[in-house]
Amino acid sequence: MEATEREEMKQVILDKLEETKQEIEQLKELTKPVEPDNAYGRLSRMDAINNKTINDAALREQKNRLQKLERALDNLEDGKYGDCIKCGDPIPVGRLKFMPWTTRCVKCA
Ligand SMILES: [Zn+2]
Repeated sequence: MEATEREEMKQVILDKLEETKQEIEQLKELTKPVEPDNAYGRLSRMDAINNKTINDAALREQKNRLQKLERALDNLEDGKYGDCIKCGDPIPVGRLKFMPWTTRCVKCA
């Protein structure tokens, strides 16, 4: 990867990191324990629990993504970023911009 591409990708990763952190904060709000009181009707309490399950999964995924992005940033500093971990080919920059946390090319994904 060329220096100019690396600079560009660094910005993409930093932006995505920020976005992911904000997403995690929002999901943390949404995944607070569901109150056991009668503030909800019975049905809407079940809705709240269902939504919480979905949001819990989303939160796990975002946390996972955050770790991958942090690793991507480390790799970028070490000059190891952008090569497929499976076949070793460079991952097209277009793909990296779309999914900067990815570590595999389309073929190997
Ligand atoms: Zn590959």
